[in-house]
Amino acid sequence: MTLKKPIEKLVLREVDRHMATSAQCSCQRCREDAAALALRDLPNRYASTQRGEVMINVELQSLQVQLDVHRAVAAACAVVAERPRHEPEDLAST
Ligand SMILES: [Zn+2]
Repeated sequence: MTLKKPIEKLVLREVDRHMATSAQCSCQRCREDAAALALRDLPNRYASTQRGEVMINVELQSLQVQLDVHRAVAAACAVVAERPRHEPEDLAST
């Protein structure tokens, strides 16, 4: 899974922050699962590549987007914490 879009970077950063402040597993698998879940929960326009990266970066700095991302990530992390899909070998590699 490669993370390239600005919204994806923002979500993954928020996932890291959220997991750092909770007791839940933060292995690569759980991070990616939480990020993917959160992204699915966010409005599609945040992930749009039609308007150019500069415009999107500006929009992603707005308070509304920050709040949306924060809420989506918190919900996604709760789902992943409840049902982690990591394998034992994933944990060994982190
Ligand atoms: Zn995990």
